[in-house]
Amino acid sequence: MVAVACGEPSATCWCTSIGGGPDPIEGFDLKITEIPAGSGTAHRLLVEAATTRGRELLQRVPSVAATDADTAEAGAIMARSAAMMPARLPASELPELLAGTAQHPHWDAVAQRCLSCGNCTSVCPTCFCSTFSDHTPLGTDEAVREQSWASCFQLEHSHLGGRAVRGTTAARYRQWLTHKLQTWPEQFGTLGCVGCGRCTTWCPAGIDIVDEAIALTGGTR
Ligand code: SF4
Ligand code: SF4
Repeated sequence: MVAVACGEPSATCWCTSIGGGPDPIEGFDLKITEIPAGSGTAHRLLVEAATTRGRELLQRVPSVAATDADTAEAGAIMARSAAMMPARLPASELPELLAGTAQHPHWDAVAQRCLSCGNCTSVCPTCFCSTFSDHTPLGTDEAVREQSWASCFQLEHSHLGGRAVRGTTAARYRQWLTHKLQTWPEQFGTLGCVGCGRCTTWCPAGIDIVDEAIALTGGTR
């Protein structure tokens, strides 16, 4: 597992709010921090090996020992990067803040803009919904079961007992946002969002999950 510390967050990034940040702290074998060329220094990569596997891999590529100046410069880059993303939401309080918002009028306000296109779910690194279909190809005696990506924004994805239980865009958007920011910890022990901002970047309606969560929880930006 190779992690890249992010020195250039985009305007839609908000990982600092979610309890992480631009600098990975665990879960990697190697971590790479890019250090741009400066006055008298070349462009270079600072690589940190956190595991035996990472150290073995690092030995297979040409490298020189990092200096204290390299480490300090990488730290300054991470500090600048984090400062570009001031916290916008109290992540640890979101499950409690969002509880009881099921009837909030803001769900209908979002639904006025949301196209139910599912772009946000396509680009989200934590979305995992899928569906199954069975086929019996003509001329064979085989049955084929296929799994394919699905989205909670698809009407048929909530089809249960002869009808879609989330029949409105408001209900589908609520399912998506509250699963990530409210109920995911019950299942997985962590929020279902890493604050990457990809859903905001790729939303054709300009819907920003942070703005919507702020509106629902009464926070201010
Ligand atoms: S900001 Fe959160 S919900 Fe949006 S794409 Fe990234 S992980 Fe998914
Ligand atoms: S990308 Fe935007 S418009 Fe499309 S389903 Fe997601 S929130 Fe709605």
